[in-house]
Amino acid sequence: MTDNPAPVRPDRRAELAAGLAQVRARIADACTAAGRDRGDVTLVAVTKTYPAGDVVALAGLGVTDVGENRDQEAAGKAVEAAAAGATPRWHFIGQLQRNKCRSVVRYADVVQSVDSVRLAGALATAAAARDRPLEVLVQVSIDGDPARGGALPDSADPERGLDPVADAVAAAGALRLGGLMAVAPLGWEPERAFARLAEVAQRFRDRYPAATALSAGMSGDLEIAIGYGATHVRVGSALLGMRPTLR
Ligand SMILES: *Cc1c(COP(=O)(O)O)cnc(C)c1O
Repeated sequence: MTDNPAPVRPDRRAELAAGLAQVRARIADACTAAGRDRGDVTLVAVTKTYPAGDVVALAGLGVTDVGENRDQEAAGKAVEAAAAGATPRWHFIGQLQRNKCRSVVRYADVVQSVDSVRLAGALATAAAARDRPLEVLVQVSIDGDPARGGALPDSADPERGLDPVADAVAAAGALRLGGLMAVAPLGWEPERAFARLAEVAQRFRDRYPAATALSAGMSGDLEIAIGYGATHVRVGSALLGMRPTLR
């Protein structure tokens, strides 16, 4: 029995290298168009549904950050990748249940999806066992729909309002407030979504000047997100191929 993932076949490695070259070129072009420094944008490779061997291959190609959205899948993948010598920064980007916090803090370097005071508290308790603080991005709702994920900007809601959530993260010794994350709402033009996000982020940074990360943009809209100040783009399908299931 070994934890080592099967090495990827040469054709898969070539496929990943080609996808990576394309995504890197898109990011570089978007930075140029926006008058931004290429070094200001981090690519987070979203490896959900793909095996640990792909993580290892991507790390070998210079990818430093990977994203996963389900603890059940990510926990084992992180162990497998590490056994093969790949230790990228793991970003947890999915909806997080409080009873999964204890597991997530074992492998995640960043949790991008904290959107309630209660979740911040559960994560802080779990992260107390770590030897270094856990970086947290507050997921913010762009359309303000309380029925979906994301803390609510301009809301006084003590549980879901953006300021109370960010304050709870900032006050927790085991957590470090890094910035904001958002997903463009379905049915919104990315342009409108990220313009709105940029306003929220501007006000957020007035309040928390050290929390400068802005995670926005995916395979289909990363250029627009970079144009509106994204510091992290989360790219799955453009890099690894279309996922068999939609999630
Ligand atoms: C799956 C996922 C992504 C990547 O989406 P692609 O369209 O495949 O690039 C980005 N962010 C989150 C939160 C995701 O769940």
